[in-house]
Amino acid sequence: MKENNLTIYNSLSRKKEKFEPLNPPFTGMYVCGPTVYGDAHLGHARPAVTFDLVFRYLKFLGYKVRYVRNITDVGHLENDADAGEDKIAKRARLEQIEPMEVVQYYTDRYHGDMDLLNVMKPSIEPRASGHIIEQIEMVKKILSQGFAYESEGSVYFDVTKYNNEHHYGILSGRKLEDMIATTRELEGQEEKKNPADFALWKKAQPEHIMRWPSPWSEGFPGWHLECSVMGTKYLGEHFDIHGGGMDLLFPHHESEIAQSVAANGRHPVKYWVHNNMITLNGQKMGKSLGNAISLQDFFAGNHRLLEKPYSPMNIRFFILQAHYRSTLDFSNEALQGSEKGFRRLMSAYSLLEKIKPAGNSTFDVNAFRSRCLEAMDDDFNSPVLIATLFDGIKHINGLKEGKESLTQNDLESFRTTYREFIFDVLGLLPEEDDSKGELVSSLMQTILSVRQKVRAEKNFALSDMIRDELARINIKIKDTKEGAEWEIGE
Ligand code: ZN
Repeated sequence: MKENNLTIYNSLSRKKEKFEPLNPPFTGMYVCGPTVYGDAHLGHARPAVTFDLVFRYLKFLGYKVRYVRNITDVGHLENDADAGEDKIAKRARLEQIEPMEVVQYYTDRYHGDMDLLNVMKPSIEPRASGHIIEQIEMVKKILSQGFAYESEGSVYFDVTKYNNEHHYGILSGRKLEDMIATTRELEGQEEKKNPADFALWKKAQPEHIMRWPSPWSEGFPGWHLECSVMGTKYLGEHFDIHGGGMDLLFPHHESEIAQSVAANGRHPVKYWVHNNMITLNGQKMGKSLGNAISLQDFFAGNHRLLEKPYSPMNIRFFILQAHYRSTLDFSNEALQGSEKGFRRLMSAYSLLEKIKPAGNSTFDVNAFRSRCLEAMDDDFNSPVLIATLFDGIKHINGLKEGKESLTQNDLESFRTTYREFIFDVLGLLPEEDDSKGELVSSLMQTILSVRQKVRAEKNFALSDMIRDELARINIKIKDTKEGAEWEIGE
């Protein structure tokens, strides 16, 4: 275990806290994964990349991390409410296939997208439908503690009763009175004592396909229950980090806390961590809002709002260029800007790999490395880390031009710093196209310097021939005072 100064912003205390895991060097992290009823979009990529960064950095610091990210395959009803059709069952009905075929198909697609984004696999990826027995057990426990009631074959969490002894709203900062006043009375909710109560178990309607036997009815678990159950099962009744998108803070995570406190008598999580949303022209992005662009469409450039394809590493870099607690607004301009930045960083890094040690060290490599660590220790501040890595490019260029130098040891540690922070921590990968582009660019530099020599010897026939031959393959040469420039024609 290395010494570290990591601080994490805790949504529960609403301030940054020093990271002190319950059981070092072990630490546990639970993150709410996708409901698999359609292709992943940019809004799914953000929590995945955010908590991948957290996972990677905790490992980098030497922690043994058990990372649990669930798959929701049952119980997530439309509009996140206790009424309406199950999102997966609805897709199965529309496509006339078995619900678990929908789950398998979109889980595989999700994994494919995550692999392309270089998101590491979680240690455990449990499914809600694989934990029905444990969910029934937890409902029994909450009932026996008196914080739930049965009504018409369904079981509801008694929010009012809970709030008299504990605080329903501790995470979101909401007050129960306000919640009750603003909760809409939805159809099919008459069986609740109070509109703020939420389902722990729902009796299945005759047309509902996904159903399991229980002491109360044939039915299915409420959406919030699975995460309490699977978090407890794999990480214990009290664990270090629980993450997810800000949109899950209420009611999902608020209800998770209430369920765990009601069943186990203790608050389940030490650090609650939430990533902010991705907006599209300032508007929230979401499948239910109809403005979500799938990741596959981004990779293929296949959407009316996209000017061109954007590679997975470009998307990853774009997400990491904003701090996870800031909103991130999508635009073609922003993505193209971050694409340039990504290429610049990667080519500076490959240049660094080719530099030779020389003389004395003209700058402090340890101080540079400390700045990188400080950025990440400050609540995983990836944009500051990236800015620091960009800052180092002037040293890389100085080294290349011979204006600066590093000893063998310092050069090695400068390289290691770049390598570790770019690949291990930020999880970026060099793109194949980039390396080809780089090869073309070094070839062109070679051709242009030969041509420069030919011109200096006043062999204009040969120099024009080189220019014309290149023009034939659509490469244009422009002679300027500083030398020749080249570009690929339209
Ligand atoms: Zn969850």
